Amino acid sequence: MKLTFLGTGTSTGVPAIGCECETCTSDDPRDKRLRVSVLIEHAGLKVLVDTATDFRQQALRYGIKHLDALLITHCHADHIFGLDDVRPLNFRHGALPVFTDARAWCDVRRIFKYVFEPSYTGGGLPQLVPHEIHVGAPFCFAPDFQITPLEVLHGRLPVLAFRFNDFAYVTDLSEIPPATMDALQNLDALVLDCLRVRHHPTHLNVEQALKIIEHLRPRRTFLTHIAHDIKYSRDAKLLPEGVIWAYDGLEVDSG
Ligand SMILES: [Zn+2]
Ligand SMILES: [Zn+2]
Ligand SMILES: [Zn+2]
Repeated sequence: MKLTFLGTGTSTGVPAIGCECETCTSDDPRDKRLRVSVLIEHAGLKVLVDTATDFRQQALRYGIKHLDALLITHCHADHIFGLDDVRPLNFRHGALPVFTDARAWCDVRRIFKYVFEPSYTGGGLPQLVPHEIHVGAPFCFAPDFQITPLEVLHGRLPVLAFRFNDFAYVTDLSEIPPATMDALQNLDALVLDCLRVRHHPTHLNVEQALKIIEHLRPRRTFLTHIAHDIKYSRDAKLLPEGVIWAYDGLEVDSG
């Protein structure tokens, strides 16, 4: 299994528009963060998690020419506003299977009403094949490629996280319910939300993320959804061994 970070930034992206802080003016490429998304490759399949606002740029930068499936965590703008940009993939490869839960489908259908209730027939619209998935009910894309949807709390909003065999992608949360903690045992690689050092009402901060990592004890952890408060070279020292800040373009392989 290979996981590629297409984006590791919080909802504004880093640099943030108009900001002249130390991170936003940094030359370090690890301080330049597109909106969060990962590509999972396994068993010859490519699975995207979220069509971030920057999806077009990410697909061009990382040479994505084909996708087998899209998983959606939740319907905040930074996670789904790139959805219309799957059209060039549709033109070449046909409709894209999309997987999320009933709550998110309700929002996707409302936000992208023109896709689901088109006022005309013909080209120009994303072609999506909707699949409804359920928390705690695993499904497979291939015999050794199991995906388990899990629930985390993003403030009061329930959001999907995903376990892929012994990798897990868990972003946009302030709390992990006990059942999800149980389902995140024995991980090789955990990707976990960590916005910044200061507290935030809907995201984990460093202290909260490290507490979760201490409980779960994954072999490796990569923190994502990072705000401009974090400067890569300066703030690496905040993290213990086995935990790093992810950065755009970072690839994580099994084993
Ligand atoms: Zn987000
Ligand atoms: Zn800044
Ligand atoms: Zn969110």
